[in-house]
Amino acid sequence: MGDTIFSKILSGEIPADFLHQDDVCVAFNDISPVAPTHILVIPRHPYRNLSEATAKDPALVGHLLAVCAKLAKRQKLTAGFRVVTNQGDEGGQSVDHLHFHLIGGRSMQWPPG
Ligand code: AMP
Repeated sequence: MGDTIFSKILSGEIPADFLHQDDVCVAFNDISPVAPTHILVIPRHPYRNLSEATAKDPALVGHLLAVCAKLAKRQKLTAGFRVVTNQGDEGGQSVDHLHFHLIGGRSMQWPPG
């Protein structure tokens, strides 16, 4: 297993409010939300980022994005939402375990900071 805070959430060592769980991934609320809805969707396998995951398990990302869309529907984000993954220092990644941010409930700006 990986050694990030997300591995501790997956093992139950750190509590999280799971909104979705399946064999491949889990979803839970971000501890520091940037919008009314801010959910993280993470694979159970501790791939460090999008590049590593797509190289080793090309189908995984499609599943994670489908879960994001399902959660957006469940959260009634009918006016729209944003799905983001940050990779590396310049991408602003702070936890080295692949995750998609599902953000919604307010208008978004573009370009992102
Ligand atoms: P990133 O900066 O893209 O790597 O995103 C990491 C995200 O993990 C940030 O939005 C943090 O607020 C979030 N985060 C860190 N620790 C926790 C935690 N214990 N529970 C939920 N979210 C967390």
